[in-house]
Amino acid sequence: MHDQDPTVRCHICRAGYLRRSPDFARIARVTSDAKPFPAGGELAVCEACGTIQKPITPSWEKDAAAVYEAYTIYHNAGGTEQAVFAGGGGHPTSRSSRLVGAVRDRVGLPAAGRMLDLGCGNGAMLRSFGEQMPGWALVGNDLSDKYRTTVEAIPGVEGFYPVDPENVPGTFDVITLLHVLEHIPDPVSFLRRLGPKLGPGGLIVVEVPDARHNPFDLAVADHCSHFTPETLRAVFGAAGFEVVVAGDDFVPKELTVVGRAGGVETPLGSGRIDLAVAESTVRRHLAWLAELGRVGLALAETQRVGVFGTSLGGAWLLGELGPAVGFFVDEDPAKVGKVWDGRPIIHPAAVPAGATVLIGLPPVTAVPVKTRLEAGGAAVGYLTPAA
Ligand SMILES: [Zn+2]
Repeated sequence: MHDQDPTVRCHICRAGYLRRSPDFARIARVTSDAKPFPAGGELAVCEACGTIQKPITPSWEKDAAAVYEAYTIYHNAGGTEQAVFAGGGGHPTSRSSRLVGAVRDRVGLPAAGRMLDLGCGNGAMLRSFGEQMPGWALVGNDLSDKYRTTVEAIPGVEGFYPVDPENVPGTFDVITLLHVLEHIPDPVSFLRRLGPKLGPGGLIVVEVPDARHNPFDLAVADHCSHFTPETLRAVFGAAGFEVVVAGDDFVPKELTVVGRAGGVETPLGSGRIDLAVAESTVRRHLAWLAELGRVGLALAETQRVGVFGTSLGGAWLLGELGPAVGFFVDEDPAKVGKVWDGRPIIHPAAVPAGATVLIGLPPVTAVPVKTRLEAGGAAVGYLTPAA
């Protein structure tokens, strides 16, 4: 990875030059609301701060605008947030519900307060927060007005404001950003502007995909930053937030950081940056995606292919394999029985004997899923490339 372009600088530290990946342009892309998106675009690593990113160019801005224009949240589950299966199986809980429980248990939250959810979509986080923290007043914010009625009907919600975050009235004890920061072209100044919205001791809770473990995240056209624990912490430091707690185990495959205003601003790129690690993460993920596509296309020569998963990985395989995809497989009760792009979404128990199903999940989750489903005894093969 080299190919420096002196015209575009890193959008996180604003200083570093970008080393672009020569392999990315050939990789099929998806949207963050899990739909296929044409290949193209650029992926790079900043030499100064080490953040994996999509350079912010007019072309990226055009792609992101097209994604948001057509956005439909959790469309494969009729608007229901995706489930998280603890330990690769068992009883599903929603991602936001799990996050609220983890923050409450590890940080401690008072019985009453005011909470603002930025980028609230149809209100999944507000609903989860209200259920577990019933004494709190909740406020939703999103640039789109599309889900206003749904959000305003959630118990505990006192307002919805489709405005820039700094223009939401009042101050807050907790501000949450779930899957927001990876979309923002200037994450440090965005976070810094939230400082004045926090009351004394107020907390900011950020959750983003963990770039170390999810190859499909790199393929999301509208995600411009791909964080690791180090680069996400560095963004908090640069924005003047003290990190209260951070971890990759609040929610599987996600990074969570809880910060408090009043930290010492630490310039980006001042810590030790391991560029080789960032670049090898990019190479490893892109090679894995290429191999998944190759396996799928080879399989499609002899049969209609089943695809396990109806989120990012399922969308990626749908884009890559097109008409060869015969059906989708999912264990999420909100999705089974629905139809996606003309294909049925069926439960693993309903997969015909002798079928082969490609797993559209990152390697870290695909391997346990394969082991568990094949141990079920049905004569179905589940395929995932070696990590
Ligand atoms: Zn940088």
